Order: sequence, then structure tokens, then C-alpha cells
Amino acid sequence: MALPNSSVYDCIVIGAGIQGSFTAYHLAKNQKRTLLLEQFPLPHSRGSSHGQTRIIRRAYSEQFYTSMMQECYQLWAELERESGIKLYRKTGLLVIAPPGNEEFESICRNMEQNKVSWERFTREQVMAKYPGLILNPEDVACCDDNGGILYADKALRAVQEQFQKMGGVIQDGQKVKHIQPGQVVTVTTTSDIYQAKNIVITAGPWAQKVLSPLGLELPLKTLRINVCYWKEKIPGRSGLLQNFPAFLGVNLNGEEHEVYGLPCQEYPGLIKICFHGGNEAEPEERDLQAKPPQIPDIQILCNFISKYLPGLHPKPAVIEQCMYTNTPDSNFILDYHPLHKNIVIGSGFSGHGFKLSPLVGKILSELSMGKEPSYDLTPFSISRFQTPQASL
Ligand SMILES: Cc1cc2nc3c(=O)[nH]c(=O)nc-3n(C[C@H](O)[C@H](O)[C@H](O)COP(=O)(O)OP(=O)(O)OC[C@H]3O[C@@H](n4cnc5c(N)ncnc54)[C@H](O)[C@@H]3O)c2cc1C
Repeated sequence: MALPNSSVYDCIVIGAGIQGSFTAYHLAKNQKRTLLLEQFPLPHSRGSSHGQTRIIRRAYSEQFYTSMMQECYQLWAELERESGIKLYRKTGLLVIAPPGNEEFESICRNMEQNKVSWERFTREQVMAKYPGLILNPEDVACCDDNGGILYADKALRAVQEQFQKMGGVIQDGQKVKHIQPGQVVTVTTTSDIYQAKNIVITAGPWAQKVLSPLGLELPLKTLRINVCYWKEKIPGRSGLLQNFPAFLGVNLNGEEHEVYGLPCQEYPGLIKICFHGGNEAEPEERDLQAKPPQIPDIQILCNFISKYLPGLHPKPAVIEQCMYTNTPDSNFILDYHPLHKNIVIGSGFSGHGFKLSPLVGKILSELSMGKEPSYDLTPFSISRFQTPQASL
């Protein structure tokens, strides 16, 4: 490890999850010489971007996400065209909530104001359209018609392949050990040394570990997510396998939490239904459940299944793990390092960043190229954290 490897890149992106991969893709589209570094051999399932499916929707209570999702749908379609791979399946996205729920009403308002194709459903309409789904008598529901699922693993592969086709370089199995800021940034990995005029850090649940040596503490929490799959009590009887939407359950059953579900896709006969949250864990300790969980996520799901989806066994058939990296307000971090303008940070995707990744990548590439970003980034700024943890 003597001399830095070859010439200076325009940009090095650290972390080849979906956010880093889309950032590298947009940089390559802009003819930037780009290196994408990844600590694990690809593909891997240790971060946040693995698995077959993710929900896509414009149904958000924050107007900026609803508005940004319009361009995301276009960018996903562009990647489908370029790669020739189907990445999106339209199923509709059903939102269910108790009456008078503020988040539900904001979602409806946003969809209306942003001219999203959507409709309100009565309880009876929902139960007629989706046999096997039983709502509480007072529950309210609406449907984002173009909501659905993204084929996550395929999308990650497709964006990395397109990046490489445009001349981008991926080095996997190389963990970044040291970053030396400067006009030219020097990045030392476990096996090489690289230099670039700019770097973008998209290290998912490892973000804080990469940022601390650069003097930046962000109020990030990393959570272990139990990804649960559920089986029908009597195969073929529930009606849920043939015709099931993606759904979001907001504060149902008197709980302050959200649950979400996706139609049968990854495992024949199993439906994915998860709790939107989890217990704090370091990414390296994801699979070691040393402490008893503070949030009884699986029990909450079992209660939900018993009531809303009684055709399913109220015990998960398969449980897998994934990681969320949460900010206090669940909004992303898309910003420059406060001291180093050639270091850009994309982090804190808080369990909802996949659908927005084509645009996140575009925005991070714009920041890295010194261009005016296409969107107002106030909700995503580092300076919004006035907490003592956010220090330099
Ligand atoms: C169970 C689950 C369900 C979800 N459902 C949805 C959904 O329905 N819809 C939606 O929009 N979003 C969803 N999300 C969120 C979405 O998947 C994440 O926001 C997104 O994948 C985050 O991507 P990332 O690139 O930031 O992180 P990651 O995928 O974790 O990528 C970071 C990468 O950086 C690498 N790295 C870290 N440190 C280093 C280093 N020192 N050197 C080199 N490489 C390094 C890591 O190995 C990793 O590959 C879900 C997430 C989970 C876990």
C-alpha cells in the first residue's frame, strides 16, 4: 500500500447500497470519473438494501416526499428502460387508519393537492375488494392507485450494472478505513489507497462510524428490523395470496405504531407484513439478540394479524433481518459536511428511502458536482439538528 491507486477520480462514493449506487450512476451519467467502494463482496445482505421487495408510493403525510415521488416514478421507469428489467409492479397502496387520524388526513390532502390518482374507500369497499382483510368498523381507508412494489435486489443490480456500462468502477470487498480530507481527498481501504476531488458518504447503518473520524456526530439510531413472512392457516383459503395490495396501517389497534405489508412475492405462499421500527442494534450485532427487546414488535404484529388478517397464522413463518438508520424526525440527511464542502453525506433514510433512491442519488450527485440541487433541501439539512449530539 504505497502510492495512491492511479489517477484522481472526480468522485468516490463510499457504500454500494441503493443510495450510493444511484449516486454513482448519476455521476457517471454526468461523465464524472467515479469509483464506488463497498466493504462487502457484492451482493450482500448485511445493510439496508437487500431483499426482493420494497413499497413504492406517493401517499406521504409530508408534501415534499409526495412531490419528489413524481420524479422518482419517472427515474425508476428510465432505469427499467435502460436495463430492460421490470422493477415495478403496480398493486395499489392501501392506507388504513382509525377515524380522525391526522397522518391519514394529511396523506389524503397531499395526494389531492399533488394530483395523485387516489380514492377514499369505505370499510365495506375495502373488504369486498380484498377478501381476507377485516377492518375494524370505525377504520378509514384510502388507496394510492400507483402504489406498489419495487423489485429491490433486481433494482440494486440493475443500477450497478448501468453504472459500470457508463464506465464507472466498483471495488467491493474493500472497507474504507481512513479518509483524509483536503482539496484532493485520500481514501484508504483495507487493500488500496484512492484519491478524488469529491467524495460522497452513503454508508447506511455504518454512517456514524465513517463520520466520527471526520469530526461529525449525527443523531442517528440504527435499528434491527425483523422482516416477517406469514402463512395462510388453510392454504389457498384466505383469498390474500391472489389479490393483495401493498398496505400501510397507521396507528391501528390503539397502537402508536405503523405496520405495513406487501403481496406474496419472495416466498411462495407467504405474505410479508412488518412492523415499521425495531430495537436499537449495531449493524455488526444485528443477528445477536443479546438483550430482551424493548419494543415487542413481533407481538404487535401477531395481534395485528389476528384481528385484521385472521386467515393467516398469527405466528411468523419466516423472520429475516435488515437495518434502519433513523433520524429524530425520520427525514433524510442530504447535505455537505459542515467543514468540508467536497464531502457530501446521504444518510438517515429512516426505513423509507428505497423508493426515493433514484432522486436521492441525483441530488447527492448534484451536491457533489457543485450544482444547484433540484429540490429545496431544508428538510434534509444537518443544521436542523439542534441537539447536543450534533457537534463538530
Ligand atoms: C426491512 C426493511 C424494509 C424497508 N421497506 C422499505 C419500503 O417498503 N420502501 C422504501 O422506500 N424503503 C424501505 N426501506 C428502506 C430502504 O431499504 C433503505 O432506506 C435503503 O435501502 C438505505 O440504503 P443505503 O444505501 O442508505 O444503505 P445500505 O443499503 O445499508 O448501504 C450502505 C452500504 O455502505 C457500505 N459501507 C458501510 N461502511 C463502509 C465502509 N467503511 N467502507 C465501504 N463500504 C461501507 C455497507 O456495507 C452497505 O453496503 C426498508 C428497509 C428495511 C430494512
